[in-house]
Amino acid sequence: MGSFVENAWAVLYADGYVYPLGHSGQPAGARVYVINAGDRLSKEYLKYGGVWPGHPGEDWNRSPGDDFNDPVYAVASGTVIDAGWYPVWGNIVQIEHTNLDGTMCWSMYAHLNIISVEKGQEIYKKTQIGTIGKGAGNRYAPHLHLEIRKVRLAADYWPRTIDDIKKNYYDPSDATTDEDPSAGYINSHRGTGLEEIGLVPSQYKPVFDIFNFFTKAAEKTEKIPTQTMNFLTNVTDIFQKALE
Ligand SMILES: [Zn+2]
Repeated sequence: MGSFVENAWAVLYADGYVYPLGHSGQPAGARVYVINAGDRLSKEYLKYGGVWPGHPGEDWNRSPGDDFNDPVYAVASGTVIDAGWYPVWGNIVQIEHTNLDGTMCWSMYAHLNIISVEKGQEIYKKTQIGTIGKGAGNRYAPHLHLEIRKVRLAADYWPRTIDDIKKNYYDPSDATTDEDPSAGYINSHRGTGLEEIGLVPSQYKPVFDIFNFFTKAAEKTEKIPTQTMNFLTNVTDIFQKALE
């Protein structure tokens, strides 16, 4: 792990987490996304009724209604490290996230009908990454399988023990509705980041780039114009506040 400046040079930071569904501007109450939606094939973190000992993520549905092909969004800013088709799973997207405090996690979205991002792409949170699908060969009722991983795993990795799940996966949200501010990784990392100091997502990367440019320039020359130094100081203040 390098210094903050070294990391900022290369990384689009995750500045807070959001739910993966329901950000497309639907009227309030018209669409509600839930885990364990009654008669649907829905599972919570660690709970599973099948042959495996537990479920490493959450299965999300819109209820009521048919949610096949509903948009799925990135839970946080990061880099797409996997985007492709896998047996049984169908389409999977995996995103690597680096938080402002230097910790990392990996969000994984499975059974997608359509994938709308590419491997290697840097994306902001709430970017659409695909749509809800049915898995390979339409084997499932439509749902989003969401995992938040503590370590980098193969996109299609499936744990075989409860200990494996507890060791390698966070509880994604522990939410029963789209608006439930309960426990889980997403909820405990919501509302933190650059948005809180007045920046909108489209400004994050440019601000990081400007910060890095002047930091590198300052290392190479002692003759930085006063105006530039004042600007750099202001930008540095913004980053300091974001890291507090
Ligand atoms: Zn699942």
